[in-house]
Amino acid sequence: MNGANALDRVRIVLSHTSHPGNIGAAARAMKTMGLARLYLVAPAAFPDPVADARASGADDVLAAAQVVGSLEEALAGTVLSGAVTARRRERSVPVRSAREAAAELTGFAAHGDVALVFGRETSGLTNEEVALCSMPVTIPANPEFSSLNLGAAVQLLCYEMRMAALSPGVPASPDGEPASFDEIEGFHHHLEAAMTASGFYDPANPKRLLQRVRRLFGRIRLEKEEVNILRGIIAALERKPD
Ligand code: SAH
Repeated sequence: MNGANALDRVRIVLSHTSHPGNIGAAARAMKTMGLARLYLVAPAAFPDPVADARASGADDVLAAAQVVGSLEEALAGTVLSGAVTARRRERSVPVRSAREAAAELTGFAAHGDVALVFGRETSGLTNEEVALCSMPVTIPANPEFSSLNLGAAVQLLCYEMRMAALSPGVPASPDGEPASFDEIEGFHHHLEAAMTASGFYDPANPKRLLQRVRRLFGRIRLEKEEVNILRGIIAALERKPD
């Protein structure tokens, strides 16, 4: 696929945005870099005249925006996603810089949609939201003053996506077919159910087991086939011996 097509596969997801002005600024930032697919998870106010004003000409991006109720809906069908976050998290999978993430996302775009997820103005992304994404992504800013305005953060990531997609050596795409968000979530839910039924996992005393398991599988890029194998193994172990 050529680079410009890769940009068509990028979803920009804004979670629980409070200020409609930032939604408009994000739309403008996207359009200047050739991106058009905006997803809004439970925005406080949308549509809104303030968003229209700040989009200044990117109203087509706003008009086509998909408003959804949960991050899971926004990520459905994607093959790789980045949680864009300034905060370092304990027990998270390794963090990518904006540039590294843009290269990897562009490579995966050969296989399907990819996404970048941005958090709330006040508190960023929740740990649960970060855990749903394939990797945390950070803008390596001044450690003493690292929080960019939401619209500025979207601008920067869209620029990196454009540079990666249009660079002469377009990033390599993975050989095997990557598992989708839905397949990976299905695997985690299946594993959790089996661990609970076997008594290995006690939901009343979780001790971060599920987080550890997500971190383990979050370090690798599971292929479709591999998810099928893992689920086959769990199903076989679940079968009660006669
Ligand atoms: N005060 C919030 C930051 C909110 S800024 C917090 O503590 O997390 C709004 C959003 O912009 C963030 O959720 C993130 O998606 C993005 N952002 C701002 N600065 C960033 C940085 N240095 N690296 C990565 N994302 C950043």
